[in-house]
Amino acid sequence: MVKFRKIGILSSGGDAPGMNAAIRAVTRRAISQGMEVVGILGGYAGLIGAANEKDPEVIRQKYLRPLDTHSVSNIVTRGGTILYSSRCPEFKTKEGMEKALRVCEENQIDAIIAIGGDGTFRGATDLTNHGIPSIGIPGTIDNDITATELTIGFDSALNTALRMIDDLRDTAESHARCIVAEVMGNGCGLLSLYAGIATGAVCIAIPEIPFDRERAIQKIASIRAQGKRGMIAICGEGLPCTDGQPYGQGLAREIQDRTGIDTRFNKIGHIIRGGDPSLRDRLTATQMGVEAVNMLLEGRSNVVMCVNENRIATVDINFALALDKMYKNKLEDGDLDGFSSYQVAQMKARCEYRHAKIEQLYKMSYDICI
Ligand code: ADP
Repeated sequence: MVKFRKIGILSSGGDAPGMNAAIRAVTRRAISQGMEVVGILGGYAGLIGAANEKDPEVIRQKYLRPLDTHSVSNIVTRGGTILYSSRCPEFKTKEGMEKALRVCEENQIDAIIAIGGDGTFRGATDLTNHGIPSIGIPGTIDNDITATELTIGFDSALNTALRMIDDLRDTAESHARCIVAEVMGNGCGLLSLYAGIATGAVCIAIPEIPFDRERAIQKIASIRAQGKRGMIAICGEGLPCTDGQPYGQGLAREIQDRTGIDTRFNKIGHIIRGGDPSLRDRLTATQMGVEAVNMLLEGRSNVVMCVNENRIATVDINFALALDKMYKNKLEDGDLDGFSSYQVAQMKARCEYRHAKIEQLYKMSYDICI
């Protein structure tokens, strides 16, 4: 078993419900194994900020908060992140990394567990490459980390979106309106797709699948002709703007112009990043947090915690990042150079599996949601 004096934990990038459950699990597991834990405040900015401060008390207050069993009490139920989050471009620079390494050395931080999305994992792999073993935990509502079927926050955000869309349906029904709801999710349409299916949307537009606008508008007109009053159309936030306005706003206008149905546009945005984490997120975050510490103790690092086929697993961070780029069609020359042909085949299979899963759900939604 590898011995660490102290491990650091941070949350970075977009916040997500369940991050606190992961912070609690990491802290308590690490303490139970005889390690100290420090919460790095504001993501990588906390490491860098501590480098510019001499007063130990200020460092404790603003950047590096010692965590004990009690300081993580009663947070498993809370949304947001007690360690705060931020974007820190300086961390990507050579000077930023030098500061971070100095802070780790001066504060005996031997390893880091970083909760966030792919940007956060890039930071974690940089740290590992500079001698600080690091592990990533996927915390993002978008569920856009291809290596894992589930990210912490997705389930809670989805449940919040459901409640809001259900509420929109009440008013749509009262006024015989169509409401186009744009759901947050960046370039990933999973939140929109799942929410659309579960709320009975008449049509769902997501970035991953070409949207047949004509068919959707005809469907809406025909459903209205059959007597349906309220209707919900869902679209993903990552769809390209049309005529300088959000995709959903353009869609709402077109529905109104072409069908005569009173149509409104509604944005379901940051609110779904807040709120209490769901059972699933609390459980996943706890399991991932405990396993992340176990990995470090086994001498493993540079991995991201994943859930695949309902089991907690680990995937090499570099593999996960390249896989993500492959899935998002963002591969650049040389990105796959370090991987064997078997690994590249695994990545392709994984991309196909995910595409197929989304396509199958999408097709199903078209027949069911009428
Ligand atoms: P997310 O983790 O949700 O994808 P970001 O992409 O904003 O969010 O990344 C969070 C933080 O991770 C950034 O503000 C930066 O500090 C760090 N980071 C992002 N990309 C890199 C990179 N290429 N190298 C090192 N650190 C990075």
